[in-house]
Amino acid sequence: MRKIIVAIDGHSSTGKSTVAKRLAKALGYVFIDTGAMYRAVTLYALQNGFVSEGKLNAQKLTAALPSIELKFKTNTDTGKSEMYLNGKNVEGEIRSMEVSKYVSPVATIKEVREKLVAQQQKMGLEKGIVMDGRDIGTVVFPDAELKIYMTASAEIRAQRRYQELLGRGENVSYDEVLKNVQDRDRIDSTRETSPLKKAEDAIEFDNSELGMEEQFEKILDLARQKIDLQGFQNLEGLKP
Ligand code: C5P
Repeated sequence: MRKIIVAIDGHSSTGKSTVAKRLAKALGYVFIDTGAMYRAVTLYALQNGFVSEGKLNAQKLTAALPSIELKFKTNTDTGKSEMYLNGKNVEGEIRSMEVSKYVSPVATIKEVREKLVAQQQKMGLEKGIVMDGRDIGTVVFPDAELKIYMTASAEIRAQRRYQELLGRGENVSYDEVLKNVQDRDRIDSTRETSPLKKAEDAIEFDNSELGMEEQFEKILDLARQKIDLQGFQNLEGLKP
């Protein structure tokens, strides 16, 4: 059966990764969380002193890009695909509030985006992939067969993220998380290079009210329809 590319874009903490992960499992596809890649570059910047007094040194980070190697590998303990930065598992560290604070400024840097987009496009060469991010349907795979755009109110997203961070033992306040969600929305949507926006042919889901389960079933249905259609078109192409 021919495989397709599913692009899932949208605001932060809309549950994109959860949906993308489940969808990939249901279809037997590879799941790629591109946010983890931007987060890992941000962690590298923090670890190497490229952020000082709250300011990111974009020039130093750009110069260091060739020394940053990002890989998704299956963690044999968890069975999950996790992010490795220069050979070290950083899946936990990249989800911290500190990384969340600087990731959007890092993601505005053109050279960072060029490097990561090229790597993402390589991962999709054989299709059979569900990729989530901000620019997947617009820039990384503008020809993706299925594009989903997910959103929800900032307050609901902040509440979800706050619970997640508390669950991981981080000492944060709801207001701090809400501010981070709003700041990232603003920076992500207004940056010059590939801003977050809904692709014209993307199907929008607002999950402020819609249940996660119901949303997943709808997206799975859409993916199956696209895969069937693709198979049908291939058969048509074989006709004499
Ligand atoms: O998806 P997640 O919230 O982990 O992404 C973290 C940040 O990485 C986003 O707020 C955005 O600034 C950046 N990002 C991006 N393009 C992507 C994925 C993430 O700019 N494709």
